[in-house]
Amino acid sequence: MTENKRQIAIIGAGFAGMSAAWDLAKAGHQVSILEAAAEPGGLASGFKEPHWEWSVERFYHHWFQTDSHLLGLIEELGWSDKVHFPKPISVMYHEGKFYPFDSIPAALAYPGLGFGLNKIRFGLVGVYLKLTNNWRKLEKSTTDAWMRKYAGNEVYDSMWQPMMIGKFGENWHDKVSMAWMWARLKVRTTRLGTFEGGFQAFADQFAAKLQGAGVNIRYNTRVSTIRRLEDGRMAVSLQDGTSENFDQVLVTLSPGMMAKMAPDLPEDYLGGLLKLKSMGAVVMTVSIKHPLSPQGYYWYNIPKQAGFPFLSLVEHTNFLKPEYFGGDHILYIGDYLEIDHPNFKKSDEELAEEFLPHLSKINPNFNRDWVKKIWVSRTPYAQPIPLPNHSENIPSINTPIPGLFFASMSQVYPWDRGTNFAVEIGRRAAKMMLVEKNMDGV
Ligand SMILES: Cc1cc2nc3c(=O)[nH]c(=O)nc-3n(C[C@H](O)[C@H](O)[C@H](O)COP(=O)(O)OP(=O)(O)OC[C@H]3O[C@@H](n4cnc5c(N)ncnc54)[C@H](O)[C@@H]3O)c2cc1C
Repeated sequence: MTENKRQIAIIGAGFAGMSAAWDLAKAGHQVSILEAAAEPGGLASGFKEPHWEWSVERFYHHWFQTDSHLLGLIEELGWSDKVHFPKPISVMYHEGKFYPFDSIPAALAYPGLGFGLNKIRFGLVGVYLKLTNNWRKLEKSTTDAWMRKYAGNEVYDSMWQPMMIGKFGENWHDKVSMAWMWARLKVRTTRLGTFEGGFQAFADQFAAKLQGAGVNIRYNTRVSTIRRLEDGRMAVSLQDGTSENFDQVLVTLSPGMMAKMAPDLPEDYLGGLLKLKSMGAVVMTVSIKHPLSPQGYYWYNIPKQAGFPFLSLVEHTNFLKPEYFGGDHILYIGDYLEIDHPNFKKSDEELAEEFLPHLSKINPNFNRDWVKKIWVSRTPYAQPIPLPNHSENIPSINTPIPGLFFASMSQVYPWDRGTNFAVEIGRRAAKMMLVEKNMDGV
């Protein structure tokens, strides 16, 4: 127990909020997590049918073997034996067919890269990016410009541009910092990991562990504003009209929500938050009676020119056994989209009408009778868009208001967003909160 036990509020029970709570509670402070949803896990949360043993994530999720912050936390919690790393097959599209693309021999055999020189350039660029740590030099360029220069137009157009369009859409794909691509290639592994029972099982167990350590997690509790009082404490107002005071507050939401929640932030910090760009996502989960991919493929990289009305197709049960889901086969179909995209407004049924007929391009036997149930998840904040020199535009974790801290996906750059970096930034924020001594800012 510390001499100075602080009352701390964390807004959001995602991976960042829960990781920060863990360290702050261990340091002896009284931590409350205020969470709008009915369960922990945030963007990585999941759901379960009554006959499923495991949950599925609302948005497809897996870990990489390089996710050291996340795997380190799990080890600390004593649950490493619950992490599994299968090796599912990812495929790339070329002229109407999909080809495995998850090993060097598979990449060399992929016809989309053309002949000798392209393959050599693709390989050399890949090796260079794996070896270099100089992302600060890379961030001066866009991925589009850098890759065209070093890998060549043909390699970029067939390999990387479809992925960039899939992630960032027509408006942003050619404006993203090359450091983003560097970070992505640096940490990718072909083995992909999950937690026994699904990401929701991890979130539930972590939440229970936090409660055991004295953290007060309050679900269905939506925060509306945060203001600093004259005595230096922070007043947190809830949507139900009540207000509570804390010594320190950590917000783990999007930059846009942070700006709305804390309107007293100085203009330059607020302006910085509002300048940050991001993509939303609309993802349909479908349970079907039979496997979709005849070859057992997990992850389909679909370029726009292939003519599907979505760019992500993932057969989750080619990563994890259908037995975990009562024999159901699980697909994810979706897209990263700007938030004014019509898909955000379409009903689940309208999206199903649009998406499902295209599954017969993957398996000609597929028909609507295979479908047991669909669910659609939508989020306005799914993927930050780091423009060149983004390192200069990252909002600081300790805001100009003493006692108020902010940790989001937009601040983990040069790394790409993910639960691993949510754990990292949550714990980094906790460390900074622990050393903040003088909360009057004097
Ligand atoms: C389509 C998609 C695919 C992804 N794939 C992967 C993957 O394969 N692997 C991986 O590791 N990561 C993946 N991610 C990223 C990962 O989900 C995020 O990086 C991580 O979950 C972010 O955690 P967080 O705690 O920062 O934020 P969040 O998870 O967003 O947590 C914020 C929490 O705040 C709550 N909240 C919001 N408003 C309020 C309010 N007013 N008051 C109180 N609470 C509020 C929310 O309900 C939420 O629980 C993916 C994300 C998406 C969208």
